[in-house]
Amino acid sequence: MEYNTIVKKITPHTLRVAYLYPSIYEAMLSSLVAHIIYFMVNEYFPEIFLERFCVKKLKGTEPPPRSIDTQSSLKDFDLIITSLHYEPDIANTIRILYAAGIDPLRKKREKPILAGGPAIMANPHPYTEFIDAFIIGDAEEAVPEIINIWIQYHDSKKLFLEEISQLGYIYVPGINDEEKIYKKPVQDLNNTYYPIKQIQNTEKEPIYGKGLLLETSRGCKFWCRFCMETRIMKPYRYRSFQKMKNIIEKGIEINKVNRIIIYSLSFLENREEQKLLDYLIENNFSASLPSLRIDRLSEDNLEKIKLLGQKTLTLAPENFSYRVQRIISKYFKIDELLPIIYRVLDKGFNLKLYIISGFKGENKEDIDITIEKIKNIAEYARKKGRKLSITINPLIPKPKTIFQWIGMIDLDKAREIINYYRKMLRGLVDTRPYYVNWAWVQASISLADKTISRVLLDWALRGGDLGSWRRALRENNYSTEYVFEGYRFGEELPWNNIVLGYGVEDVLEKEYLMYEVLSRKSSYS
Ligand code: SF4
Repeated sequence: MEYNTIVKKITPHTLRVAYLYPSIYEAMLSSLVAHIIYFMVNEYFPEIFLERFCVKKLKGTEPPPRSIDTQSSLKDFDLIITSLHYEPDIANTIRILYAAGIDPLRKKREKPILAGGPAIMANPHPYTEFIDAFIIGDAEEAVPEIINIWIQYHDSKKLFLEEISQLGYIYVPGINDEEKIYKKPVQDLNNTYYPIKQIQNTEKEPIYGKGLLLETSRGCKFWCRFCMETRIMKPYRYRSFQKMKNIIEKGIEINKVNRIIIYSLSFLENREEQKLLDYLIENNFSASLPSLRIDRLSEDNLEKIKLLGQKTLTLAPENFSYRVQRIISKYFKIDELLPIIYRVLDKGFNLKLYIISGFKGENKEDIDITIEKIKNIAEYARKKGRKLSITINPLIPKPKTIFQWIGMIDLDKAREIINYYRKMLRGLVDTRPYYVNWAWVQASISLADKTISRVLLDWALRGGDLGSWRRALRENNYSTEYVFEGYRFGEELPWNNIVLGYGVEDVLEKEYLMYEVLSRKSSYS
C-alpha cells in the first residue's frame, strides 16, 4: 500500500496530466525525477491533478494502462509528460500508448506528449515522430514554466506547441527544427524544488531499496571521454550541507524511514558531502551510496562509509591499462588503484567492479593487463573472504562524446572479448557481462537520426525484445552501420541543433584529436 500520495477531487474543471514512467513500478519508486514531477506539479498547480503511469512488464503486450492514483484510463488525460532515461525506454512508451488506444505518432494525435531525460537531451531526433516537444533542461525549471503555458493553451495543441517553442530550451519538431536549442539547467540546487515528501510503499520494494532519496549533487566535475551523463548534466552543482540536513530532518519524519539513499554521479567530491557523511554517522543513519570514484576512498572515508552500514562498494575503474585509461580520460595514477582497492577489501567491504572493455583503441595487451589486475584483486578478495563481482560492458558510443565519430567495435568481436574475460576469470570471480546485443540496441537508437522511427514503432509493437528488434530492422530494411563506423569527423550531426553548453561542444573536436594520437596502437579499429 502506498502512502504520501496526493488526493484531489476530480471535477469537470480539473486539468488532468499524466506522468508516464517508461519502466516498472519498482523503478519508478527509485526515480527522483518521478517524485519531483509528481509532487511539484500537484503542489504548484491546484487546478491540475497529475497522476502516474508505468509499465507492467518490460516486453510483450501491455494491458490497458490505468493510473496508479485513481485507476483512470490514460485516454482521460489532457497532457502526457514522460522522461526517457535510457534510449530503449521509447519502446515502453510506445507500448503503453498503444495499449491505451492512443496513437503513438504525434501527427495523428490530438493530445500533446512532452519528454525530457538524459536520452532526450543528448539526441531527441530518434523520437521526433512520437513526441511533440522535447525538454532540454532540468525538470524543476522547465516543467512549471511549460505547465503555466499549457494552462492557457490547453485547448489547442498547435498554439501550445508554438508558444513553448519560443522558450529557447524546448525542441518542437516541425516548428523550430532550424533553430539551436540551448540547455536550461537549474543553477542553484539549494533554491530549487525538492520532493521531501516521497511516495513510499509498504509492500513493494523500490529497486534501490526503501529510504529517503537524497540528491547531493548533479553533474560531475570530470570529463571521462565516453561519458554522456557528465556532458548533459554540466555544470557540476551541489547542495549545501545545511540544505541536505533540512531535507533529511523533515524527510525521515514525513517518509517514516531511517535510511538515506544518496544520488550523485560523483559523490564525495565536495566539502558539503564530506560534512554530510559525518552528520549521517553522528545521527546513526544507515545509507546507500552510489558508485564511487576510487581516488576518493581514503582510509577515513572508508571507515565512515562502513559505519553507515554499506556492505558492498560499487567502483568503476573501467580499465586497468594505463594506456586505455589515458584514452578514455579516467584516472591517471594507475599504480595507486590497486592499493586503494585492497584497502576497500581490508576494511571488510564486498566489491562490485565495472569494467569497460571492447572499444576501438584498446588492444589485446590492454585486455590482458586488465585481466591480470582483476586476478590479483580476486586473489586478494578470496584471502580476505570478501565477495567480488565484475560487470564487463562493451563501450556504447553516445552522442556528444568523441565516440560519436569512432563508433562501436564489431558485435562478434565484443562477444569474443567478453567471453575471453569470462574464460580467463572462470572460477576466480563472478563475472556479469552486459548483454552485447542490448549495447547495440542502445547505441543504434542513441546515434540515430529520425529515420529510425519506423523501426522503433515496429519494434515496440512487436513487443520490444531483442528478437523483435532484429525483425524490425529486417522488415524496415534499416542498417545500423553508423553504430560501427561512427559519423565522419566534420560532417553535420543529427543532434547539432542541441547545445549543451558549458564547454561540451567546444572541447569535443580537440578531445577527438587527442584520442587519435593516444589510440594509434590498436588491434580493434
Ligand atoms: S567520473 Fe563517472 S560520471 Fe564523472 S565523467 Fe567519469 S564516468 Fe562520468
